Amino acid sequence: MDNIDSSKGLNDFLPIQDWFNEMHAKNTSQKVRAVLKSKGESGISLANNVPYGYKKDENDKTKWVIDEPSAEVVKEIYNLFIQGHGTFEIARILTKRNIMTPAEYFISVGRKFPSKLQEFKHQWNPTTVASILDRQEYIGDTVNFKYTIRSYKDKTKVPIPKEDWQIFKNTHEPIIGEYTWNIAQQLRNNRKKPTRSGKKSIFSGLLFCNDCGKKMYFQSPVTDLNAKDHYRCSSYKKNIDLCTSHWITDEVLQSLVLENIQKVVSYMKNYEDLFIKEQLAKSSQDEQKQIAKNKKEFEQAKKRITEIDNLFMHIYEDNISGKITDERFRNLSFNYDKEQKELKAKIEQLSKEINNTEKKTTNLTQFISNVKKYTEITELTPEILNELIEKILVHQAEKINGKKVQEIDIYYRGVGIISFPVSLEDMTMVIEKMLNERITA
Ligand SMILES: [Zn+2]
Repeated sequence: MDNIDSSKGLNDFLPIQDWFNEMHAKNTSQKVRAVLKSKGESGISLANNVPYGYKKDENDKTKWVIDEPSAEVVKEIYNLFIQGHGTFEIARILTKRNIMTPAEYFISVGRKFPSKLQEFKHQWNPTTVASILDRQEYIGDTVNFKYTIRSYKDKTKVPIPKEDWQIFKNTHEPIIGEYTWNIAQQLRNNRKKPTRSGKKSIFSGLLFCNDCGKKMYFQSPVTDLNAKDHYRCSSYKKNIDLCTSHWITDEVLQSLVLENIQKVVSYMKNYEDLFIKEQLAKSSQDEQKQIAKNKKEFEQAKKRITEIDNLFMHIYEDNISGKITDERFRNLSFNYDKEQKELKAKIEQLSKEINNTEKKTTNLTQFISNVKKYTEITELTPEILNELIEKILVHQAEKINGKKVQEIDIYYRGVGIISFPVSLEDMTMVIEKMLNERITA
């Protein structure tokens, strides 16, 4: 089965005869790749260059250890990003602070680096910043098989789709916590260009339309001084037939969110145990069912992959013995290959979902410790929002009894919507009553 390269499409399959002729020439190259493959599959990094922030372990050259000075810069880049600075801005800040670029740093500590710099200008590039924000290695994982070469003849590097990467958890000490890294990834995926006025919304990447699920579009009017900063559904902005406006001003949104966050902080401060209990109990039954369903589908997909391997072996033998034509063989192998690829993607997705639900407790602990960082929140900042909130869904405003009512759903990071069963004042009364009953009983 090793001869089936899953990145191949129908047209890449050689006619069988040519395929055999190529086999000999390919052999040596395949040995090298086979060795690389087994090395990569054992979780040893295949990267020749250790990423910025790490260095090779003196005692074991296959291991990475944290390189303090550069790791500090990596941490600072993530901090700045979560505080709401974009990659261009971060590059500018680092340059202004006279921080050596990775290339300059490598040269300064005598690490091998391909280019020879004439002078150190500390000129940071937004692409460098972006690549640091995208590297999963910083949370302690080894990521192998991100690229392949086209063939043994053509050594062009070809990127491999993310779902086919092999990821090994906790192979070295992390520089960035997983929670922080996830925030950075979400911000990277939802990044947005600043508006024409140059103003950036503090909710950037967090706001979505409740009905169509698309991003809310931020607008800071430049010409009309009386107009307020506001958001509209981006589908509606594109075409008013696609959705409704979901119009909300930045001012209203900020006050709604601030009020909710303040409640959470206060809830947590006074009733932490109750909060934990409630969160863990929340929809746990539904979740158990979902996990069981996912695990079953996962097993089925794995079984089918093995079946396909066997089917392929058969058609391959049938083709050699002349039972099926080359063309038929190509078609069948193309279909099997396609199905197998789809199954692999499904397995990846399912295992992610299974892991996610099992990670819930860790998320909750992380969320609580993040909330506790703030004893009092009087103003919203991108940092607070990014750290605590995963997304906000904006509903269409409605008129109820002549009054305009607009709802928003705030999904807190790792815990979802936090509902307050009764108002905090009521809750204090309930608890006092309970205590009194216990005393009198
Ligand atoms: Zn919409």
